[in-house]
Amino acid sequence: MVRDVESIFTDILERAKALDPANTRKWFDNLTVLHLDGGSLGIGCPDEATTQFLRDNCKNNFIRAAQQITGHLVTVDFRADTNRKSILRSQATGPELKLHPDYTFDNFVVGPSNRLAHASCVAVSQSLGNTYNPLFLYGSVGLGKTHLLHAVCFEARKMFDRAVIQFLSCEDFVNRFIRAIEEGNLAGFQSQFRTVDALVIDDIQFLREREQSQEEFFHTFNALYNNGKQIILSADSPPGKIPSLEERLTSRFNWGLVARIDPPSYETRIAIVQKKAHLRGLSISDEIAEFIARKVHANIRELEGALTAIYAVATTTGKEISLELAKTAIEGQIDSAARHINITDIIDVVTRHFDVRLADLQSKKRSQSITEPRQICMYLARNLTKHSLEEIGGHLGGRDHTTVMHACSKIDQAKKSDPKTKILLDELTKQITHAPAN
Ligand code: ADP
Ligand code: MG
Repeated sequence: MVRDVESIFTDILERAKALDPANTRKWFDNLTVLHLDGGSLGIGCPDEATTQFLRDNCKNNFIRAAQQITGHLVTVDFRADTNRKSILRSQATGPELKLHPDYTFDNFVVGPSNRLAHASCVAVSQSLGNTYNPLFLYGSVGLGKTHLLHAVCFEARKMFDRAVIQFLSCEDFVNRFIRAIEEGNLAGFQSQFRTVDALVIDDIQFLREREQSQEEFFHTFNALYNNGKQIILSADSPPGKIPSLEERLTSRFNWGLVARIDPPSYETRIAIVQKKAHLRGLSISDEIAEFIARKVHANIRELEGALTAIYAVATTTGKEISLELAKTAIEGQIDSAARHINITDIIDVVTRHFDVRLADLQSKKRSQSITEPRQICMYLARNLTKHSLEEIGGHLGGRDHTTVMHACSKIDQAKKSDPKTKILLDELTKQITHAPAN
């Protein structure tokens, strides 16, 4: 029976999710297949931000998923689906804004630790240049500064269709400045930054000890400020505490509003875990969210890491997410800092289980007792590590990528049709993912 493109795409999507839980989002379900033919898969995305997110983070995994499902080499291309009504109209003027689709106000949980920062960002986004100028956010790493800056840009762009917004990291600002000098195009650089409606720079502490860039930034700041244009900055410390930053800059940073972000409370952490789970299309019980929020408190990125670990264990073992599973996943993560699985771990577990030697797997022997563990090694390596087909083949006796691909689809089939194979694979996966660190 010839399968239709939609159903193949559904399988590819499911595989891509399983291959990379950390980058899986609920809105993946809104992706469409534009075409799947001649070794090329076109995927339609709801808007530019999601398209960019997929290109930057998910391309390789989609390629892997498409190859595993179709058994062919497939190239993958993401495109904003113009037939759909895009939430964000494309901008008429100004630089392209690279925004992360997760980082919106809707996805930001407000609590006592970030209430002021959040409220001031909302206010600024509604009225560029007229409320707090400059707006300066600070707090330690992983507390949501970058998230809020993206959200301001999203919102401002929705509100003011024609506003020219420049959003970049301070490192980017410095590098572009250096390049402009090298290329003798300082005027171009200056007109790019001094004529915007809003300049948003993340991690401004990066300006320290860069005297020339500080000087340039000082003039940029003055030009914008004097014209009533919005300036939004973030840093890891308050203006006066950034070492080696000129006084004339730090005093200007204090002219508007300086908002601190503190580490989130227990209640806020619970709400964030729920929000992030929802974003990934996962439902987790209050009990599990509370457990994660109790275990992880340093920064929010780690909360997300915990969620990813739970999801990864659930998908590789095929089990429901329970408190038990959450405990194992997180404890594993905390104990061994998200232990990196390598192909040797897999070979160890598989050879032990089948009582064969690595040399047998690498040999030319084709008896069932050797072929099966060899193919299982290939399958597990494909699913649990980031190695390419070629690398996996290389570890197993220098076999080429088509052999590995064939092995993967064969085991995949067996897993679907034979419950015993599924149990075996689950058991091996469990041993591999929980194997103690050497
Ligand atoms: P920072 O720039 O302060 O180092 P980020 O903005 O990169 O931190 O945030 C790290 C992660 O934590 C991001 O995934 C972000 O979405 C998330 N995060 C931080 N604060 C919140 C919040 N209040 N609600 C939801 N997610 C948050
Ligand atoms: Mg940041």
